[in-house]
Amino acid sequence: MPENAPRTMIEANGLCKYYGPFVAIKDVSFSIPQGQVVAFLGPNGAGKTTTMKILSGFLSPSEGHGSIAGLDIRTDRLEAARKLGYLPENGPLYDSMTPIELLKFFGEARGLNKYDLKTRVEAVVEQCAIGSVREKPIGKLSKGYRQRVGLAQALLHDPEVLIMDEPTAGLDPNQIRDFRSNIRELGKSKTILLSTHILQEVEAVAERVIFIHEGRLVFDGSPEEMRKGGTLEEKFYDLTGSVRTVRTEAGGQV
Ligand code: ADP
Repeated sequence: MPENAPRTMIEANGLCKYYGPFVAIKDVSFSIPQGQVVAFLGPNGAGKTTTMKILSGFLSPSEGHGSIAGLDIRTDRLEAARKLGYLPENGPLYDSMTPIELLKFFGEARGLNKYDLKTRVEAVVEQCAIGSVREKPIGKLSKGYRQRVGLAQALLHDPEVLIMDEPTAGLDPNQIRDFRSNIRELGKSKTILLSTHILQEVEAVAERVIFIHEGRLVFDGSPEEMRKGGTLEEKFYDLTGSVRTVRTEAGGQV
């Protein structure tokens, strides 16, 4: 590797996952250098969550291996976890805890000392703008605030790498806009892989698209390359082989 080449921060190498005879992902390989913000795109059921859970160390691959900041997610699991913030699809949030209790719980689990924990909790409360709900039970918070608490949890140990599973799913348009601007800000200092099936998300935050369909990678390139000769929407249909239905503004079908 040339001396000035950026470090590889997320690597998937021949990842496969079988559930019995069902192939959830097959031969998934990609390498993400430091500082890139990558959209992991694909229809529902394509294998995005499976791949992200493997890369986050929550699921073992049937074959292949992955690494975070050069650390193998299986053999160097704890070290890799220190470099990684993971925001799973719906949490991980405990409804009866307040955001502060949750952050302290995760901070202690990650081995932050008392002083660092206090400083980092205050920092992520500020960064994710959850000060006004800090003492409310998470179960009583809106989806937007729950996502922010999830993000605060993922950022608590100031990781270099962020993996986020459908971070804007279920948010209203204002919340989506706020969350995307958060992601763009984070992208200035961190390497980010975020899954989505929303095409506007790709344009809004990512410089690279990795597209997965039926467990296999079918495209890896910039949004501009993906759009070539058409729109992202048309390319999405091409890559997934879906029958195209165009909806009119009034909601009818053509
Ligand atoms: P995505 O995140 O892209 O929606 P997933 O990774 O959640 O896709 O799922 C990929 C495929 O694997 C889907 O067909 C899903 O039904 C299947 N799958 C996921 N988890 C399991 C499981 N625990 N057992 C059996 N099949 C599963």
